[in-house]
Amino acid sequence: MQRFDVAIVGAGPAGSTAAYRLARARARVLLVDKAKFPRDKPCGGGLTTRAVGQLPFSVEPVVEDRITRVRCRLRYGPVMERESSRVLCLMTQRRRLDEFMVERAVEAGATFRDGVRVVVESETQLVVDGETVEVDALIGADGANGITARSLGLGGGIVNGVALEGNLSYAELPAGDWRGLLLLELATVPGGYGWIFPKADHVNVGVGGWGEEGPNLRRHLRVLCEQHGIELRRLTDIRGHRLPMRRPPTLLARGRALVAGDAAGAVDPVSGDGIYEALFTSRLAAEHTLALLEGRADGLEPYAAAVHAELDPLAAAGWGAKIALDRFPRSVFAIMRLPVTWRVLEKLLLGEVAHPGEAKGTGRRAMKAIEGLARLAGTARTAPA
Ligand SMILES: Cc1cc2nc3c(=O)[nH]c(=O)nc-3n(C[C@H](O)[C@H](O)[C@H](O)COP(=O)(O)OP(=O)(O)OC[C@H]3O[C@@H](n4cnc5c(N)ncnc54)[C@H](O)[C@@H]3O)c2cc1C
Repeated sequence: MQRFDVAIVGAGPAGSTAAYRLARARARVLLVDKAKFPRDKPCGGGLTTRAVGQLPFSVEPVVEDRITRVRCRLRYGPVMERESSRVLCLMTQRRRLDEFMVERAVEAGATFRDGVRVVVESETQLVVDGETVEVDALIGADGANGITARSLGLGGGIVNGVALEGNLSYAELPAGDWRGLLLLELATVPGGYGWIFPKADHVNVGVGGWGEEGPNLRRHLRVLCEQHGIELRRLTDIRGHRLPMRRPPTLLARGRALVAGDAAGAVDPVSGDGIYEALFTSRLAAEHTLALLEGRADGLEPYAAAVHAELDPLAAAGWGAKIALDRFPRSVFAIMRLPVTWRVLEKLLLGEVAHPGEAKGTGRRAMKAIEGLARLAGTARTAPA
């Protein structure tokens, strides 16, 4: 039998950064993943500046592009394009980013075991490739299809969206100003959108929406490709994955265990982004786990309270905007085109406001208008309080 202070199941952004922070604080950390690294993860690989602000180290070596322009179209019709003087989003590939982050965690002192079979037996015991490991705390960072939440009765109340994406080299792409550009095709998929994100030698092309859209995603992807003069069959590495979005009943922690990132359903409902939330919940997870290990707390429930206090306003606004965009796409797009709205969106991407409710002046009024549309559309059925 082996002993560690804390085990972290899953080595995506949530798991590796929690491992890094805890190892730096001199905890004995075991980080385990069922996949052999380097591994890929279906993801657009867009790291908003807001997300970058949550990183405990620079990821500069794996940055492939920097976004300063955003182009949004409504149903392949009217276009709005905005440019920022600041970098709004970094572009990377998850295969590279996740391996880089795991390396930082190992450098900090964490023990990493990949390609292993993990069974979570209790808050303080797991079995890794047949060997029992005892711990004082357990972090489930095993994503949308993980086992930790299920094994310990955590999670629940999560609505799963779904997304499908693939890659296309610049050589195969019609000429265009793809570099530095975040391209979003709004209201083209129920409960979601299509995107084209630039990387060093290719673009990532994808669509995502409500879970029920799963069977239609390939068609949505084909239409997105056709709109940009791309043949679907030219895309490589086409794969899909869930987008887990939590609601109020989602149980995030109990006793000596917690869930973070996608395992906690932390994906933003309207953007489908989850790396910011993965990094944010991982930082809180590390802080509260350390408090438990050092005897400053009796359990990890305060982590759940902190996540609710700090992320629920953003999640609630995301649910509202998602429902409003689904039901009243033209009205939402008209509000989005207002210069004041762009200034709020820019601040959100940069992490200068934590959620739309913090916007001031006319920007606040624009956000209120979207909230009003959401209420009209009846968000009460799905949005966190
Ligand atoms: C198509 C698509 C595009 C996206 N694009 C973006 C984007 O551009 N920007 C953005 O911010 N977000 C994006 N997201 C969301 C983002 O990918 C996730 O929110 C993010 O990966 C969550 O990180 P995580 O560490 O919580 O989980 P993950 O990154 O999913 O990592 C979980 C890890 O747990 C491991 N694991 C799973 N089960 C087990 C098990 N039983 N035992 C051991 N290990 C296990 C997995 O192998 C994996 O390594 C996208 C999602 C999809 C599906």
